[in-house]
Order: sequence, then C-alpha cells, then structure tokens
Amino acid sequence: MAIVSCSQFVHFSSVTLKLHELCFVFLMTFVLLVCALLFSSLLMIIYEKRITNSTLEDEPFIMDDIAYDNENERNADQCTSQGCMWGKSSDGKVYVPYVIASHYSSRERSIIERGLQSFQDVSCIRFISRTNQRDYLSIQSINGCYSYVGRRGNAQQVSLDRQGCLYHSTVQHELLHALGFNHEQCRSDRDQHIRVLWQNIQHGWEYAFDKINTLNLNTPYDYNSVMQYHKYAFSGNNKPTMEPIPNPNVAFGTATQMSNNDITRLNRLYKC
Ligand SMILES: [Zn+2]
Repeated sequence: MAIVSCSQFVHFSSVTLKLHELCFVFLMTFVLLVCALLFSSLLMIIYEKRITNSTLEDEPFIMDDIAYDNENERNADQCTSQGCMWGKSSDGKVYVPYVIASHYSSRERSIIERGLQSFQDVSCIRFISRTNQRDYLSIQSINGCYSYVGRRGNAQQVSLDRQGCLYHSTVQHELLHALGFNHEQCRSDRDQHIRVLWQNIQHGWEYAFDKINTLNLNTPYDYNSVMQYHKYAFSGNNKPTMEPIPNPNVAFGTATQMSNNDITRLNRLYKC
C-alpha cells in the first residue's frame, strides 16, 4: 500500500513537473507572440508614417465604428505638369496597367473592376490588366484606402481595404488620385466655398486639410465631386470638420460616383 502510495506520489509529482514545464513553454510562446505582434505593429506604424509623409492620400474611411464616405479630391496636382501623368498612346488612349491582388474575393474583385471600367465610358483612360509594363497600379487590401497622387514609376500601391473601401465611389476616388487629382477641399480656391473647422479635426490629421496649389482646369468647386470629403471627415469630436460657404446647410461630400465636373477635369487634364 505504501509502495503504491509512494509510486502514486512520484507519478503525481512527475505530472506536476511536466505541467510546470508545459506552462513555461506556453508562457514563453505567449510572450514571444506578444513581442512579435508589438514588433510588427511598430513596423506598421513606421511604415504608415513613412508613406503618409510622402504623397500618399489617406482616406478617413472608418472612425469610431462609423463608416464615412471617402472624401473626394479631384483637382490636378502640380506634379501633372512635371511628369506624373500617365502617357498617351498613339491611338489617343491613356493606358494605365493594373494588377489586383489575389486576396480579394470574386465579389470584391468585381467591385474594383467595375470602378476601373467606369473610366472608359467617360474618358480616354483605359485601365488594362498588366502584362510586362514597368509602371502600374498594384491594387491591394492593405490598411485603409489610399493612393499616391499621379504616376510614381514602377509598381505603385493603391490600397483598397476589404474592410471599408470597396465602394464604387471609393474605387473611383483612389483611381483619380492615381491619375493626378487631389481632394476637392484642398483646392487653391476652397476658402471661397468651404470653411475648415480646424478645432474639430482629429489631432494629427490637420495636414489632410492643407490647401494645395492645384490646377483647377477651369472647373468650378464642386460639392458633389467624388473627391470632396464628407463633412465629418477626420473629426475628433463628432462635430463637422468643414462647412460650406455661404450656406452652412448645403449638403456636400456624399457623391456615389464621379460628378460631371470630375469627368470634365479628367478629360481636360489628359486632353481626351
Ligand atoms: Zn482621397
């Protein structure tokens, strides 16, 4: 009986020891995972900071669990006179190659493709599936909705996040960035049409409302441009960040597709 007891004790003790070892292994694995997560988050933040500081245009697509329409911008950037336009082919068309990442579902992919194709009905822009062209748009679900302004050379990211960016207007918006257009509220003449309420803007995002010396291509300021931000874009306190002048009650920033002015500007910039 004593031997059995002893044996049982030893066995129990051994199991206890193994449990401790197991706990230790689990704990170390957990610590390593947390470290890896923190490290990758840090890398992500650095990366985001880096691209934000260049000419990427971020979109305020989700804030406080409220999905806002992506703002709209659509006035030609100065870079378009310095080589950031896409070249025109001898047939008068402007071919812009693209690659859509394979991580999209077929439904998501069709939303993007519909946005790409929408340009050919109204302009000389032709988005084409890339074969071996050097410069092209690499459309991926990264972190938010954003694009560079104009052609950058080689592969350039256009992020259409699966969570919050797959809307027709957002796809058109980001593609207009890639074609060389800025946000409507950044237009050089915006102060005559929009009052920026700086005090309501989320800290750190003020730059998204900076005025830019845009080429407005003889088109009027357009509240219905797909490039016009929603009135609550980047709000830090749930109050509007912009109000129209002179009537603060005029609706703006709710476009579901390119406006006639968006299309006119596009055709004027590319001389379609
Ligand atoms: Zn934008």
